[in-house]
Amino acid sequence: MSQAGAACQPPPDVDTDDCLGEYRHLFSPDILAGKVAFITGGGSGIGFRIAEIFMRHGCQTVIASRSLQRVLEASKKLVAATGQRCLPLSLDVRQPQTIVAAVDEAMKEFERIDILVNGAAGNFLCPASALSFNAFKTVMDIDTVGTFNTSKVLFEKCFRDRGGVIVNITATLSYRGQALQVHAGTAKAAIDAMTRHLAVEWGPNNIRVNSLAPGPITGTEGYRRLGGKFAEKASYSEMIPLHRAGNKTEIAHSVLYLASPLSSYVTGTTLVVDGGSWLTSANNFPALLDVWAAGANTNQ
Ligand code: NAP
Repeated sequence: MSQAGAACQPPPDVDTDDCLGEYRHLFSPDILAGKVAFITGGGSGIGFRIAEIFMRHGCQTVIASRSLQRVLEASKKLVAATGQRCLPLSLDVRQPQTIVAAVDEAMKEFERIDILVNGAAGNFLCPASALSFNAFKTVMDIDTVGTFNTSKVLFEKCFRDRGGVIVNITATLSYRGQALQVHAGTAKAAIDAMTRHLAVEWGPNNIRVNSLAPGPITGTEGYRRLGGKFAEKASYSEMIPLHRAGNKTEIAHSVLYLASPLSSYVTGTTLVVDGGSWLTSANNFPALLDVWAAGANTNQ
């Protein structure tokens, strides 16, 4: 790419949960050679693309979520496209014993885990006044408690003695109090805090812990549910400083940076990957209420 502005151009992506038809390496192709990554939520959306990009850089992966069918199908596609090994496992990040069982199985298969990506999450639009106590708690349980549960199991079973890297996928929702997102914004803000706490406590064990906060990312469940209706309006992308939504490959590249030795001195921070959108997003409460009332309020 030699044209002006090439550094702002998105790499190719596909909107479905399928692998990229073509891929041009920007990082060294063997930057994760010999490594094993455990990716929760790796069967769909952003997590799926992270698994693919890691595997295209020499990594073997474990992709884990509640639906075994989902991760099984995803792993077949990932193996076919990259030639790397991928172990699909079922777990619920709210239930520590299922994480322990999955990590034990992964260790049997690969004998090591070097990288944890906490991508599992649940979200939907809902005004605080209409949010049930249980809905708020469920999002906190999956996002925040789930991230802690998985990090702690990986610490005890793999990272404490050998070191490791943790990347928590969070969000920018809390930065300006995004309307209709008190549950996810609160949950993700707590994860960013957890990132700093764990970076401090686990740094001496050679463990780096960082968050990555995506903005609106096309080809994802999150975008379809939360941003899709707004994104149809021409003015939506003009509000974003880079004048477009991001894609899953862009997020995966940034996670790859955080998981790789390129970021060897980076810990306890949040990398925002959003084209600058949190700085300028309208956070229009009445307009979002209209979207919600029109039926975008399906819970996960
Ligand atoms: P997605 O495809 O719906 O990914 C969520 C994943 O989490 C699914 O694979 C789901 O699989 C898994 N999951 C949900 N509950 C779980 C549980 N209790 N235990 C284990 N796994 C569970 O959504 P996405 O939009 O790509 O989002 C991926 C990550 O990026 C999330 O952390 C999200 O908050 C963050 N994010 C996305 C955007 C965006 O624009 N899309 C923006 C900001 C942040 P199962 O149903 O099989 O469990």
